[in-house]
Amino acid sequence: VKQPFLSLNAGIDMPQVGLGVWQTPPEKTTSIVHYAVNAGYLAVDTASIYGNEEGVGEALADRPEIFLTTKLWNADQGFDSTLRAFDQSVLKLRRDVIDLYLIHWPVPKKDLYAETWRTMIRLRDEGRIRAIGVSNFTADQIKILIAETGITPAINQIELHPEFQQHSLQDFHKQHGILTEAWSPLGQGQTLNSPVIATIAKKHERTAAQVIIRWHIQNEFIVIPKSVTPSRLDENLAVFDFKLDDQDMAVIARMDRMNGRIGPDPMTADF
Ligand code: NAD
Repeated sequence: VKQPFLSLNAGIDMPQVGLGVWQTPPEKTTSIVHYAVNAGYLAVDTASIYGNEEGVGEALADRPEIFLTTKLWNADQGFDSTLRAFDQSVLKLRRDVIDLYLIHWPVPKKDLYAETWRTMIRLRDEGRIRAIGVSNFTADQIKILIAETGITPAINQIELHPEFQQHSLQDFHKQHGILTEAWSPLGQGQTLNSPVIATIAKKHERTAAQVIIRWHIQNEFIVIPKSVTPSRLDENLAVFDFKLDDQDMAVIARMDRMNGRIGPDPMTADF
């Protein structure tokens, strides 16, 4: 089955479904990523803080066509340290060029994200990154990046799942041609237990994970579900041969909750 891609403002296409490897143990990462790409995954999302870039690099050594995302860790923000951190990631990932490089968190307290963004623009202009973006940024923080550099991030990777839908940030992204990438798309597994999702899954004879991933796809998000279990990796990719209808989409839209956030709040996260 042909998989969907979305176009980034940088003029390149990104597979809509990828594999997330947060909390994938370093020693298992090579075999899991290897399994995933052989099963058909076209994109992998890692980060230097995940500690498994080497395993990802080993698994993808002969797969340069796999779309690879990594992220700059908070402690490495700033001009010199961004350049150093990028070089280290590139070595571990065994790639000359990274498809997508993200600022992992804004860390407003440090006030270094604009300088870091300028450094990433420079790396992109040198041809070492195909597209640059951010993660966990607010609309106001993105506005600052645009005002200071004239360059709009290709993507903002944010916590987003049926119980935490981030509609105002989604709208802001649309206005600025920024793609929305959903992290913890399954609510770290918690949303899989929802009776609402179970009803829709039963109707389509699909699993809860497949219904939620399909919801992300039909909302035009990039979605990067994580699993280390081969059968679940297969299951999470078998989502291109069915469609949720308008009613299903409307029912899931109503699952949004004010206090649905699971991860850290980017405004206060300063780890
Ligand atoms: P997720 O929402 O993808 O949920 C993963 C968990 O759901 C798994 O550990 C497993 O327990 C369960 N699961 C997955 N598939 C299943 C299936 N088919 N059946 C039953 N259970 C299943 O959670 P996540 O790992 O937090 O998020 C995905 C990715 O997003 C991460 O791996 C990482 O790449 C990225 N992420 C980024 C940030 C950030 O700050 N940018 C933060 C968190 C996660």
